Amino acid sequence: MDNEEMTTLKVELEFCFEKRRKETFKSWVFNDKVNCSAAKLAEAGFIFIGNRHEPDSVKCFLCDKHLDSWDEDDDPWTEHLKHSPGCSFVKLDKPEKTLTLMEFINIRNELIENIFKKIFKSRKDQVDELIDECVDLLSTLK
Ligand SMILES: [Zn+2]
Repeated sequence: MDNEEMTTLKVELEFCFEKRRKETFKSWVFNDKVNCSAAKLAEAGFIFIGNRHEPDSVKCFLCDKHLDSWDEDDDPWTEHLKHSPGCSFVKLDKPEKTLTLMEFINIRNELIENIFKKIFKSRKDQVDELIDECVDLLSTLK
């Protein structure tokens, strides 16, 4: 792994922790009193990935599901389950503080596997691109 990949691994692994996810919500479109608060989103596994054009864009730290267009009455756990029923974290349906050690370790292991899959996919795409360039170059030599 190169340095950039090591940094990705380190940063993304920290999102196993609700506290770290909550820190990504520097500003959120709703206040803390509504159902769809930053704290509830972080509890339900989401990280803030929004910007000026998409101010309420979030993604799950584990299944990578991207969601936006939230209403203040939305329940983050319900929406997470509805849009990504296969996610191992949302299937547990428990906030971090009630997870058993084994549940936490299993989630963390799955996250590590997902991060490595992403890194390998990105490397494979680079190799495929190089192969395509070589094939194109060879065809011009005929
Ligand atoms: Zn998820």
